[in-house]
Amino acid sequence: MHTIGHFINGEIIAGDDRTQDVFNPSTGEVIRQVSLASGDTVAKAVAAAEAAFPAWRATPPLKRARVMFRFRDLLEQHIDEIAELIGQEHGKIAHDAIGEINRGIENVEYACCAPEILKGEHSRNVGPDIDSWSEFQPLGVVAGITPFNFPAMVPLWMYPMAIVCGNCFVLKPSERDPSAALFIAQLLHQAGLPAGVMNVINGDREAVDCLLQDDRVQAISFVGSTPVARAIHQQSAQLGKRCQALGGAKNHAVVMPDADMDNAVNALIGAAFGSSGERCMAISVAVAVGDQAAQQLVSGLRQKMQTLKTGPFDDRSNDFGPLITAEHQQRVKGFIDSAESQGAEVVIDGRDVQVENHLKGFFIGGTLLDHVTAEMESYQAEIFGPVLQIVRVENLQQAMQLIDAHAYGNGTCLFTRDGEAARYFSDHIQVGMVGINVPLPVPVAYHSFGGWKQSLFGDLSAYGPDSVRFYTRRKTITQRWPSSGVREGVNFSFPS
Ligand code: NAD
Repeated sequence: MHTIGHFINGEIIAGDDRTQDVFNPSTGEVIRQVSLASGDTVAKAVAAAEAAFPAWRATPPLKRARVMFRFRDLLEQHIDEIAELIGQEHGKIAHDAIGEINRGIENVEYACCAPEILKGEHSRNVGPDIDSWSEFQPLGVVAGITPFNFPAMVPLWMYPMAIVCGNCFVLKPSERDPSAALFIAQLLHQAGLPAGVMNVINGDREAVDCLLQDDRVQAISFVGSTPVARAIHQQSAQLGKRCQALGGAKNHAVVMPDADMDNAVNALIGAAFGSSGERCMAISVAVAVGDQAAQQLVSGLRQKMQTLKTGPFDDRSNDFGPLITAEHQQRVKGFIDSAESQGAEVVIDGRDVQVENHLKGFFIGGTLLDHVTAEMESYQAEIFGPVLQIVRVENLQQAMQLIDAHAYGNGTCLFTRDGEAARYFSDHIQVGMVGINVPLPVPVAYHSFGGWKQSLFGDLSAYGPDSVRFYTRRKTITQRWPSSGVREGVNFSFPS
């Protein structure tokens, strides 16, 4: 069986002794092994990045951007192969995987603007014969640690911008679906990136700890679950590293009585069940405002959900695929059980779904729970599965109090025809990304992505303008070239 290695200094290298199974979640079978990097392998990757840094830092931004232009084309040319790798190891249906890659390509396109973005700020004549400017210098070696649910897109949130800003990168993708990130790194090399500028190490917690402890690593971008995000952020702070750590989510969609109910139902189905609900922006709670909206919503969802089709990744007619592991499948079932035992009504039950010829796949069918309350365990936790829960409230204020009281604050949306309500909601809600009649308000690449509360630890969001600030250090230079003949005397007061 093939063992997936690492990509260090422009080459695929064989792995270390420890390995882990990689599953095809659609069949439940082990299809590959992945190497789990030891401290030595991590050190090699960091050393390669460190050695590549001086020349890459000195490379003009336009030349760095040209690599990104070629990389973008290669991603488009190989989109089906990447989608296949994602499908094999994650279980995403090809249409969904291609959507993910396209959103990743957007970030490469934004990175192509590096010469414009890195121009800096200039002020002439801030004093007699004095000019002053700020420039944005790269940090050196930076690392990214990414989750299983977007094996191509989330790494692409990070390294294109880090690299065009002049840094060298070490990526540690999820050990559950590592192949796409490794394949894409080789495309970047093929696009003309010098060896060592981009490195990928596969591994688990041991590799992450080594990256954190390595003094040569200047900054960490992390995306994953909240407990790990919080721990990595705290550890980075103690070690004096810059860190942005994006965590989990519980995204609410509020449905007002005046909403276009057909649109709301369609939007909720896609946003709750797409990718099996394994998206950090998935809608997992629908908050129905008033009895009439609740009834319309439940009957619309019940009807539309009859045609939901779950199955293996390689059948494009499926709406969504399996969950990532058997363990996670059991965890999601456990949340449905607990909601039921705490008094929720199971309107549609996906626990016992059977997928023909794929009986060992990690499937759960679309599940709808009604009369869910804020005290329930299934409401408090991030389920990360194809489960939509309905909470009933009487008015918009109650809906907003519910959302604001939740520990997570990644995304939310409001379905309404009332502009005043929409404006009030988007202005006051304690959530980082807001949609109005838009169920998945994932910002485009030239804005930044980040939640509030326990969905983001750190001051700067991912990608877009914030990523330029994250991956660079401001240096401000004040320079005097006295006109000939002008001489300064000694001055003990503060320069003004
Ligand atoms: P995870 O936290 O288990 O793993 C994320 C990464 O951290 C992986 O590379 C993993 O190897 C590493 N890791 C795991 N445990 C670790 C530990 N104890 N110490 C150090 N490193 C560790 O997350 P996951 O299950 O791969 O991904 C799903 C989670 O990611 C969900 O909570 C989801 O909401 C979140 N997510 C958030 C965003 C966002 O933008 N906020 C985007 C995608 C996913």
